[in-house]
Amino acid sequence: MALISIRNLSIHYYTLSGIVHAVDNVSFDILEGEWISIVGESGSGKSTLAYSIIGLVPPPGRIVTGEILFNGRNLVKLSREEMRRIRGKDIGMVFQDPMTSLDPLRRVGDQIAEVFIEHGVLSSWKEARERARELLKKVGLPGDRASYYPHQLSGGQRQRIAIAIAMALKPKLLIADEPTTALDVIVQDTIMDLMEGFKKQGTSILFITHDLALAAEHSDRIAVMYAGKLVELGSVDQVIDNPLHPYTIALIKSVPDLWGEKKIKSIPGYLPDLRNPPRGCRFHPRCPFARDICRREEPEIIEVEKGHIASCHLLKKR
Ligand code: ATP
Ligand code: SF4
Ligand code: MG
Repeated sequence: MALISIRNLSIHYYTLSGIVHAVDNVSFDILEGEWISIVGESGSGKSTLAYSIIGLVPPPGRIVTGEILFNGRNLVKLSREEMRRIRGKDIGMVFQDPMTSLDPLRRVGDQIAEVFIEHGVLSSWKEARERARELLKKVGLPGDRASYYPHQLSGGQRQRIAIAIAMALKPKLLIADEPTTALDVIVQDTIMDLMEGFKKQGTSILFITHDLALAAEHSDRIAVMYAGKLVELGSVDQVIDNPLHPYTIALIKSVPDLWGEKKIKSIPGYLPDLRNPPRGCRFHPRCPFARDICRREEPEIIEVEKGHIASCHLLKKR
């Protein structure tokens, strides 16, 4: 069952040098209890999409069309106050750099405890601090870390604190935007394991990464974004073993481990300028299979096999 349904979502940044078409007509569901990853190159619109779900698209960004349906409500239409209540309680989010969300001047235990107070779950700070210590243990840190300030902890420990804050009220969805990119590989694994643990308890995970191998290892489904477009979506097996979109194929070839190749190959060319995206298929300037129609007409999203969708003129429903 769908926990969140994103429908025809478009997001623009209104900059002085032009309108950036960061997310363009994207639709997909986040299912209950699933781990879904969004992969794509830097600048493809992954973070913008993630922020929109928690009502935090930064200015000068704006959702221009579309709906984000959650519990029968359209999140796009909610007031700032209504959205603030959903954030934390129903949807938690962690970012690449936990320092951006942690207050450097307050003890981390108090920052966790505050979530219980702010959302009216507890009224006593004593109890809230007690709960914070329990939560610290749940994310693999000793309770005494509650009295530490963020700078006294390592990057991995800070990310655990950020996850503890995001998960304090047991939200139904955890959005994690490149949560391990700034960490070394061993610490990265422990953070991924921690999120796997929450998934086992029923939390849906929306994981954002440019690391296709990491996404393949942990996800149920993978969504591929290119230049603001959702170009392919399917189960891990469908997307990794039978990629349909030429961009996904190029992305897989660029990862040495996935197809047993030794050297990383970058995809030739650059992501287009999203202030003036190419006509037709946005991938056509880089696509080895591009034909006339690709330069003229935008390909529709089609379901090629059950649950496996992609947008490319070469594809037909099987
Ligand atoms: P990365 O992997 O680097 O985090 P991303 O896939 O998360 O990239 P976004 O950060 O969502 O991509 O950016 C999508 C597009 O929107 C890019 O062209 C980017 O330059 C633009 N953009 C993002 N934030 C802003 C902003 N605050 N103001 C103007 N343009 C922005
Ligand atoms: Fe390539 Fe054309 Fe398919 Fe776009 S629509 S990915 S340009 S073949
Ligand atoms: Mg990003």
